[in-house]
Amino acid sequence: MSNDRESENRQQDDWSVEDASALYRIPAWGKGYFEVSDSGHMLVRPDPDREERIDLLEVVEGLRARDLNAPLVIRFSDILAHRLRRLRDAFADAIDENDYRGKYAAVYPIKVNQQRLVVEEVYRYGAELGFGLEVGSKPELLAVMALTEGGDNRLIVCNGFKDDSYIKAVILAAKLGRTIIPVVENTGELELILKYADRYGVRPRIGVRVKLASEGAGRWRESAGAKSKFGLFVSEILELLDTLAARDMQDCLQLVHCHPGSQLHDIRRVKDTISELAHVYAELASLGAGLRYIDVGGGLGVDYDGSATNLPSSMNYTVREYARDVVHRVAAVCNARGLEHPTIVSESGRAIAAYSSVLIFNVLGVAALDQFKAPALPASGGELSQPIRDMCDAYQKVTPDRLVECYHDARHAHTSAMQMFQLGFLTLRDRGLAEQLFWATCAVIRDHARQMEQVPEELSALETILSDIYFCNVSVFQSLPDSWAIEQLFPVAPIHRLQEKPGRRAVIADITCDSDGKIDRFIGVDGVQRTLPVHEFDGSEDYYLGAFLVGAYQETLGDLHNLFGDTHVVHIRLDDDGGWWIEETIRGESANEVLAQMKFDVAQLPPRLTRDCERAVRDGRLSLAESQELRRFYEKELSGYTYLEGEEPG
Ligand code: PLP
Repeated sequence: MSNDRESENRQQDDWSVEDASALYRIPAWGKGYFEVSDSGHMLVRPDPDREERIDLLEVVEGLRARDLNAPLVIRFSDILAHRLRRLRDAFADAIDENDYRGKYAAVYPIKVNQQRLVVEEVYRYGAELGFGLEVGSKPELLAVMALTEGGDNRLIVCNGFKDDSYIKAVILAAKLGRTIIPVVENTGELELILKYADRYGVRPRIGVRVKLASEGAGRWRESAGAKSKFGLFVSEILELLDTLAARDMQDCLQLVHCHPGSQLHDIRRVKDTISELAHVYAELASLGAGLRYIDVGGGLGVDYDGSATNLPSSMNYTVREYARDVVHRVAAVCNARGLEHPTIVSESGRAIAAYSSVLIFNVLGVAALDQFKAPALPASGGELSQPIRDMCDAYQKVTPDRLVECYHDARHAHTSAMQMFQLGFLTLRDRGLAEQLFWATCAVIRDHARQMEQVPEELSALETILSDIYFCNVSVFQSLPDSWAIEQLFPVAPIHRLQEKPGRRAVIADITCDSDGKIDRFIGVDGVQRTLPVHEFDGSEDYYLGAFLVGAYQETLGDLHNLFGDTHVVHIRLDDDGGWWIEETIRGESANEVLAQMKFDVAQLPPRLTRDCERAVRDGRLSLAESQELRRFYEKELSGYTYLEGEEPG
């Protein structure tokens, strides 16, 4: 069907793409990167400073033509570049406004998404902005050491637990010429820094992480405060400065750092933290430390739900407000003390990476509770057990003025029927009848309730109870781990058919065999809702959903539950003529690869199956042709995608 016809057929008088945009709150969370086309497709505007838009469905279809089927992650490199510029611009304006004489540099914490292509892109786009990288472990440092050739004047900040060899790597990187700063997180690390600095004749740049007094708020509140895992108490920092002074190395203490926690949703937390850190900075500078950098850590939030509020899934400030607050507070404290303005460093991760990736997955099938029809019952009700007769009664009596009453009756009868079944007093057939009647009654009550201006409280859960389950070709554990682990909200919406009013409501179930593998919290017009408005799915056409803002943490935290591996990933770029092209393609993991990660000797798997096949041929359980087919199938699947790929032709 042509796009025009399709669009025409589905256009409904009482529905427009603007309604879809509002329903899924796309302008609110999309922040100009996502919008809906007139033909009802989700568009990506990778660089809101340019006019070009990319049609997501067109990309998905183009990838399918290249044998890259959903599920897949699409990374928009231009969004990443735009996020970096936005951060730089916000700080540049704040620096101007506050007459600040220091600079600003972001260091991208690579743990947010350590994929080589992402780190390389951030580093490349960050070159003209003077941005650097942050690492939190030795392996991350090893990666960064090799990726930062030629970037000697760009900062590398080293956080996390550090052993002998981590520190040795830092000092050798300094010797190589990198501007690298190990941040002392616990007291033992200074000794190691001094040991290797002596050994290699390096005058090190040293940072120190301050244990903030205020504990903060939100999910990552324990990143700060006395009980935080990292950082030194002020008394320990003073000892550290004394140790350096005794060696005439106070000038080496160049950076003070804190990390107030990720996804700071309340600007008050930012203000408190920066004020505290700035005062520590000023005191240490007055005591003779050679400070040049103040590192405010990560935490700059992402407005996942688009509400611009103090909810954990949102933030009650903008990037500009954040930048203004940071610069203003550091400037105020330094001005009061007559100190030079340091370079302000932020380790913003989420705010840089989240918008750039979209996860696309297709719907495989639907379970719909409201499809139950009331069964034809035997003429003589006397043969039926009491709860079933009660349920028939409730079903037949449903009228707009008795909805709540009928709902109560149906629920009571349903509970009784289930109890009787458990005690052996109801046959399986009668239990089936009870189920059909109950769901049919609920559906009729819900339909009436939908016509009411004010739905009674007792019936308010019916929409959720009766919602469909949309089974989707995705693993929540692999691709949206935070949705499962910490109930993080991500925007989810269809990427096409948005010109058509979505007639169903659904929760999303993934293909892992784990009942936790689902998404049942969505961004709605009035806050969090338990179901997502979706279009009817009958399997005749592909139906794709997108989970948005998934560029931070999701890819690296994902796991292999049920052996669903990494999805395909592509990098899409705008070209100069306004079109798009695929800059990079990374095929998703094959069954072979994930089995090898579980220490299967994958080379031995086909021969083992072959032996079994030969025995079956010998014993007459398989024909030779079947045995060959099975072996070929097995080997093909071993090298195939771990996700469902639809029916094979023929
Ligand atoms: N810096 C440090 C030390 C962190 O632990 C983290 C993450 O928790 C970050 C930076 C990045 O934080 P965010 O992604 O919230 O900006």
